[in-house]
Amino acid sequence: MPIRLLDEDTIGKIAAGEVIERPASVVKELVENALDAGARSVRVEIRAGGRELIRVSDDGHGIPAEELPLAIQRHATSKVTRFDDLARLTSYGFRGEALASIAAVAELRIVSRPPDSPHAASLVSRNGRVEPPTTVPAAPGTTVTVRDLFAHVPARRAFLRQDHTEAAYVQRVVQACALAAPEVRFELVSDGRTVLATDGSGDLGNTIVGVFGPDIAAEMVPIVPPADDEHDPERPAVTVSGYVGLPTLTRGNRQHIILLVNRRWIESRSLTFALEQAYHSLIMVGRFPVAVLHITVAPERLDVNVHPTKREVRFSDERLVFAAIQRAVRGTLTQHTPAQTIPSFT
Ligand code: ADP
Ligand code: MG
Repeated sequence: MPIRLLDEDTIGKIAAGEVIERPASVVKELVENALDAGARSVRVEIRAGGRELIRVSDDGHGIPAEELPLAIQRHATSKVTRFDDLARLTSYGFRGEALASIAAVAELRIVSRPPDSPHAASLVSRNGRVEPPTTVPAAPGTTVTVRDLFAHVPARRAFLRQDHTEAAYVQRVVQACALAAPEVRFELVSDGRTVLATDGSGDLGNTIVGVFGPDIAAEMVPIVPPADDEHDPERPAVTVSGYVGLPTLTRGNRQHIILLVNRRWIESRSLTFALEQAYHSLIMVGRFPVAVLHITVAPERLDVNVHPTKREVRFSDERLVFAAIQRAVRGTLTQHTPAQTIPSFT
């Protein structure tokens, strides 16, 4: 075959493959958009594990009607204008790719109303074809509805797991987002059943009750901030706060370990290992701790532009972060466990 440029539809489906792997990826992108829009309340609804329907509603600043068609175009974003902006990024989004990717692989409907607008505008995209926006009544904020995910991408559809497994992935995404933003009220409804609700009080402890339930929350303790050493030149570089489970609270997998860096849910084998090391000799081999860690680093020490889903990040000095996690967690456990059971940690 001669070399040819791909058509837009094909480019879109290929690009979507990087960001939208399963219903949980859609939920993650939509919830992050809601948080970027300053939402105080986010409601997520799924049906059949998200395969049939995913709906995310927020009370954020909305999208002006005239910008709606642009919002679903690839590389269209209101969050950055230059590459340099990434170094100071405070939003979750910056690639301008999520809505376009979702539109490439599902039916997408956006209803949005900025608070100062008298009514909402609605935009529907089916099979990549965008219908002209219409005016509809709706409360201020944005509701995005995604139906029939991967209906026209058989390879992706075949790869989806059973509905309850997909629903569990979605739940984990919403858990992480709710823990990242305790000042935002979250609700997750799966097949008509409320599976998660947080109060938006801003208190991480309350949020953990809403996310993991009162039984688990009762066995978790806040991380004790390490003694502040003013003379430490690296002092402001990394801070670790959050809650950790007591050594008596363990799980058979790592599902209850949530690592957040600058409010972003990340995946890191090395930092997970740092956490598990802090529990070394306190919990049995093959069991895993429960933890919600908020790690803060200066934005210029963090590269979030490593992978399209942004769950993989790079630190300019990971060693510092690793050490900060071990120190914070071990220090906290030492204060909450009878002295003789904690071997000294070097
Ligand atoms: P990105 O988040 O990287 O900017 P998206 O494709 O996710 O790209 O969204 C495109 C644009 O649509 C955003 O930059 C934002 O301006 C707008 N947008 C998307 N979702 C919402 C929302 N829930 N509320 C307000 N604006 C939104
Ligand atoms: Mg986005």
